[in-house]
Amino acid sequence: MRPNILVIAGHDPSGGAGIHADIEAIQSTGGFASTLITALTVQNSRQVSSFQLTPLDLLEQQADALLADYQFQAVKIGMTGSVATVEWIARLLARLPGVPVVLDPVLAAESGGSLAQGDLNEALMDRVAPQATVLTPNLPEAGQLSGESDVAEAGFALTRRCGRAVLVTGTHDNTDQVANHLFEGDRHHQWEWPRLPEVYHGSGCSLASAIASLLARGHPLESAVGEAQAWLHRTLQHAWQPGGGQFVPDRSLTP
Ligand code: PLP
Repeated sequence: MRPNILVIAGHDPSGGAGIHADIEAIQSTGGFASTLITALTVQNSRQVSSFQLTPLDLLEQQADALLADYQFQAVKIGMTGSVATVEWIARLLARLPGVPVVLDPVLAAESGGSLAQGDLNEALMDRVAPQATVLTPNLPEAGQLSGESDVAEAGFALTRRCGRAVLVTGTHDNTDQVANHLFEGDRHHQWEWPRLPEVYHGSGCSLASAIASLLARGHPLESAVGEAQAWLHRTLQHAWQPGGGQFVPDRSLTP
């Protein structure tokens, strides 16, 4: 049977990132996705223009309906959008003790448009991160959350602050290889991937969802993180351009 993953994230109508990316990634890596959509964004493959948040009482009703019916084997959190939604998610996680949680602290789109109302840093780090199994910030997000610009300083600062594993992805760096770093306490593990030529939409969402799916299937963290990266790299090698902007990973591929 496919494990059931609860996705809490935003909707991207262009289909590249957000909920579309999460459902496709989870489906291809062997899971089943249930979705709580925190926000509807206005965007295409070139840019994000704006977003509107889902009222919390509606999210609460949807969550109650799902939790009354389903057991979840993992949770994946992407765009939260506001401090109030982050606080609500923290309360929801308390109802799911022992379930692995992947927190992708989405603050902005690859194209630069903001996906957060106000400053979410403290609420994400104090309320949600301590309940997560792993955080998956990209380098700019890790810098913003930790106040450190160096990848190792940012990663160790974040793992020490919340006591959880932190995968800092290097797609936004300007190195020849994309280096992804997993920090956990004093431990550090690094993977390197050849940098591909295009700019991709939804790669962070896809990676975090694939990790959640593999954790739900019982993989230990380091193996889930390694296998999800290998899968993502292949989806990026086969990415295509649906419009005039960023490329979209081919998430129909299976690991
Ligand atoms: N979630 C939503 C709803 C988005 O629109 C975006 C980017 O536009 C993201 C998450 C982050 O996308 P990425 O995986 O490219 O970091």
